[in-house]
Amino acid sequence: MDLLTIGAFAKASGLSPKALRLYDELGLLRPARVDPYTGYRYYAVAQLDRARLVAWLRRLGMPLAEIRAVAALSGADAAREVRAYWARVEAETAVRRDLAAFLVTELTESTEAPREEPTMLELRCAAHSDRGHVRPANQDTVYAGRRLLAVADGFGPAGAPASGAAVEALRFLDEEDGPRPGNVLNLLADAVRGAGDAVRDVTEGDQEAGTTLTALLWTGSGLALAHIGDSRAYLLRGGGLFRITHDHSVVQSLLDEGRLTPAEAESHPQRSMLLKALGADPDPDLRLHEARPGDRYLLCSDGLTGAVPDDRIRELLAAAPDPETAVRSLVDAANTAGGPDNVSCVVGDVVSPVG
Ligand code: MG
Repeated sequence: MDLLTIGAFAKASGLSPKALRLYDELGLLRPARVDPYTGYRYYAVAQLDRARLVAWLRRLGMPLAEIRAVAALSGADAAREVRAYWARVEAETAVRRDLAAFLVTELTESTEAPREEPTMLELRCAAHSDRGHVRPANQDTVYAGRRLLAVADGFGPAGAPASGAAVEALRFLDEEDGPRPGNVLNLLADAVRGAGDAVRDVTEGDQEAGTTLTALLWTGSGLALAHIGDSRAYLLRGGGLFRITHDHSVVQSLLDEGRLTPAEAESHPQRSMLLKALGADPDPDLRLHEARPGDRYLLCSDGLTGAVPDDRIRELLAAAPDPETAVRSLVDAANTAGGPDNVSCVVGDVVSPVG
């Protein structure tokens, strides 16, 4: 075997001897031979490709444990892992981008003088929840108040108390005055933390029980979203339906990573398995939406989205004259499709008050 000194190998690979020593220490690229007397490292020419690959993966920011795994794979398998890694980075970045935008708004509003004119917009909403045709009990909880909309989908033996406790813990947000401008983010984060504590109280630490939580809080000029689990929020605006939450589910992450097609996802045996739920994982996704008159928001449990395709949800939402009709027709549609799960919907309209 032709061996190169560390200097020659460094030159051939475009990496520094310092980087090569680091890769050795990290176990990413062991020299082909280490002289037992001098400690000098020697590398095989055949190790050049791996050295370059390790360097590229480090530049991508991939964690060392993953680099070790990827560098051991053949081309196509390594490609799949790099694609999957990048999909995770983009999903995490999207969550952080939303949080940054929220924070920018908060910091701006906290330093501005209070608005003279109150925002002339209101929220009108309705909620409906149904056991469905298959499940023995309804473990979903919904809430639609003046300022707060929430859906929670409980699971496990204490699923119903868990979803109930989560929503109950948020109800104080529905009070008359509403949140102070510039304080929505802290208020919402504290409320969700309180909801997590309440869920742990009723599940008594049972890891098999918990709940999703997707909630919108009216701020007077917008809607602040807190989301954890696989219940969803959608926005119907200008006739288009936009999903504004990302499922914290195993199947969604497999979809993101290109390991599953949308068709395969629909019938995946683990499609209700969550990556995050309230109680176990306290960090919700948080984002702020500017409200426009005519906006219609939908919160729903997976009993709707598992049974009714998005196109149909859009049609029914767009056709309903008011939130009450919308929630009824959506729940009916899930039950007409077999009602395989508890189904819950909350619809909120952003309206200009008449007169
Ligand atoms: Mg469900």
